[in-house]
Amino acid sequence: MNFSVLRSATYSTVILPKPASQSSDFFLPSNNYPSGHARASLSRFNEMPQKSMAKKRAYEKIKEELKVDAKPKMNLASFVTTSMEEECNTLMIESMNKNYVNMDEYPATTHLHNRCVNMIARLFNAEIGENENAIGTGTVGSSEAIMLAGLAFKKNWQNKRKAQGKPYHRPNIVTGANVQVCWEKFAMYFDVELRKVEVREGYYVMDPNKAVEMVDENTICVAAILGSTYNGEFEDVKLLNHLLLKQNNKNGWDTPIHVDAASGGFVAPFLYPELEWDFRLPLVKSINVSGHKYGLVYAGIGWVIWRTKQDLPQELIFHINYLGAEQPTFTLNFSKGSSQIVAQYYQLIRLGREGYQRVMEKCKENAMVLKQGLEKTGCFNILSKDNGVPMVAFSLKDRSRHGGDEFKISEMLRHRNGWVVPAYPMPSGAEHITVLRVVARAEFSREMAEKLVLDIKNVLHELGKIGPNYTSKVTKIKEENAQRKIIVPKSNKDHKVLAG
Ligand SMILES: *Cc1c(COP(=O)(O)O)cnc(C)c1O
Repeated sequence: MNFSVLRSATYSTVILPKPASQSSDFFLPSNNYPSGHARASLSRFNEMPQKSMAKKRAYEKIKEELKVDAKPKMNLASFVTTSMEEECNTLMIESMNKNYVNMDEYPATTHLHNRCVNMIARLFNAEIGENENAIGTGTVGSSEAIMLAGLAFKKNWQNKRKAQGKPYHRPNIVTGANVQVCWEKFAMYFDVELRKVEVREGYYVMDPNKAVEMVDENTICVAAILGSTYNGEFEDVKLLNHLLLKQNNKNGWDTPIHVDAASGGFVAPFLYPELEWDFRLPLVKSINVSGHKYGLVYAGIGWVIWRTKQDLPQELIFHINYLGAEQPTFTLNFSKGSSQIVAQYYQLIRLGREGYQRVMEKCKENAMVLKQGLEKTGCFNILSKDNGVPMVAFSLKDRSRHGGDEFKISEMLRHRNGWVVPAYPMPSGAEHITVLRVVARAEFSREMAEKLVLDIKNVLHELGKIGPNYTSKVTKIKEENAQRKIIVPKSNKDHKVLAG
């Protein structure tokens, strides 16, 4: 679903009427600015306008145009937070004009950042002393965090190979076919081969046994995903750690593990504290998490944490002089806003462990309400797991042949009810299966879950999937399933996964 097509780029030339004086303007002398773009309301600028316009006019113009966007709260495709408390919104606006990189000028913001790193590292069971600082950094999101983690693995591996006098030009990463697109980006940008374990029908994440088989001496890390983008399922990092340790010992290797916990990093510690997926496992050397997903902050923040100093090669750290003391930095970009960091610190201390646990439990509960409602229709297979990231991935039992497929359902929900529920094919190995996915974020209430079930039922009625003839239809479906040939809708190719 590419909504950007709605905003087609069209030029239009407008002749502006003479200015009408309006209220004072920050950028322009008060009585000397052109405004009154009355006829310009339809124009879309692909070229900078020659004349200025009144601030109110510019505001209204843009506001009007943005109305076409989906309502963020109804966007069930995204993991990203769309609502925060008023107090936090205020703090964010107040820090919007601080460039995070000016650590000299804004030392307090830097302290908040460092404390976030410490809190998150401890949440992931990093072994750090009481007065010790954790190794990690804030990023724009998990993508930047993954670039950094990947670079660290690559450098460490190269340094080791060089020291051994062995070739160091063909590094690879082993991961599942369910990997998020940012790993492809990393592989392409930084010349690392990505080896993907295919998934299969009924098992949609990386099989640790197969992953270990793909590892060789050029493998810089195995990337496990805590919370697959496709169905929210947690990969078995503990088993992976066990199998990889065995293989490392046999071959004299030290292939490490990275955990991409973009979506699950703030879920697992609160819902499944006993689950071992983090620094409790010796081969896990780095973890990323998106602060803007279940970290409960608006888009624009991620974190990467390293197990120890040794896991982050020194040559990748830049030292910025910070109030006479050195502040190490390790990010891809330089300038960025401070608001997201302030907001993350706010959420961590405002909610505390108690609050995060409460939020995650609620998300899970609402995901279960939705799941049970969908099961009751009798039309869907559920492909997500109860003990993963709180979301529901579901596909039609009768596939595309009875009046519309998952893409059709997605489209109808969007156009009638405003819900954004993406439909996408599963990754390589199970690409014949199409799923619909609903992420149960903190903003997704029980009432919303119930309403969504109702709206989906209405769509199913309309498509003739449930209704008076339903029973006979089910029998028919069963017969057809027996001799079913899997048909991949052609349109699948045009639908990219809505990840993030
Ligand atoms: C969302 C996601 C990413 C990308 O994270 P951003 O924070 O959006 O950059 C990477 N991996 C997984 C598993 C994700 O769910």
